[in-house]
Amino acid sequence: MNETEILFTEILNCDRFYLYENRELILKKDRSSLLAAILKRRMYGQPIQYILGKTEFMGLEFKLTPYVFIPRQETEILVETALNYLKRIKNKEIRILDLGTGSGCIGISLAKFFPQAEIDATDISDEALKVAKENAILNNVEIDFIRADLFNSDCLRFKRYRLIVSNPPYIATKEIDTLASEIKYEPRIALDGGKDGLDFYRRIIKDASDYLEEDSFLIMEMGFNQRPAIEAIFNGLKDIEVIKIVKDYNNIERVIVAKKVKNG
Ligand code: GLN
Repeated sequence: MNETEILFTEILNCDRFYLYENRELILKKDRSSLLAAILKRRMYGQPIQYILGKTEFMGLEFKLTPYVFIPRQETEILVETALNYLKRIKNKEIRILDLGTGSGCIGISLAKFFPQAEIDATDISDEALKVAKENAILNNVEIDFIRADLFNSDCLRFKRYRLIVSNPPYIATKEIDTLASEIKYEPRIALDGGKDGLDFYRRIIKDASDYLEEDSFLIMEMGFNQRPAIEAIFNGLKDIEVIKIVKDYNNIERVIVAKKVKNG
């Protein structure tokens, strides 16, 4: 839905279809004051998803607070790519790790559409984990949420996964302030990927094989034009290699799939 549709389906408590079937509606007084209040916040640049406190991702509802990054449509490509690889795995016991889960959108969607998997999700932010837990309940799935800076938690020691997914912060620090003004409402730790935007890829790629079974996958979202630099990080490693790049709807290379080839 576009922003106007999001706004009016919320105000009128109806679906998108209803809006187009009823093109001339008179708003009751309480509805029009609600609309005015929302528009006022929107005019100051607050993203509609934070004003309404929710969004849709993979057709599911997610509660949001300003402590979590707003799920983006591009990230659905990461989830769909992950689901494609999961379907090919014969083994019944499938464990998945979602690193930096934020609102929980990736891990929760995987749990919903691939219910046979056992899923762990980490985040460094307690506030984010609180939102993610509420979203797991809202969507009726079970996930183990772990507070961790990427893999750094005792809970993850000796664990091995068939799939690790992540949409890490990937914007270069000095670029953040040049982006759309809405971005400043999102948590900086969810955006800031360090000097060149690649800090989290370096850390994730360096450690991923320690947490992957053989023949298992690491699937990550990437920012605009980051593919060559991220691939170069993999080039230095012998037990994990890039096997696929998936483009988004704007033809931008968006998702990178790597495979652990053998136990190093
Ligand atoms: N994994 C979450 C998402 O895709 C959070 C991403 C982030 O905070 N960088 O929405």
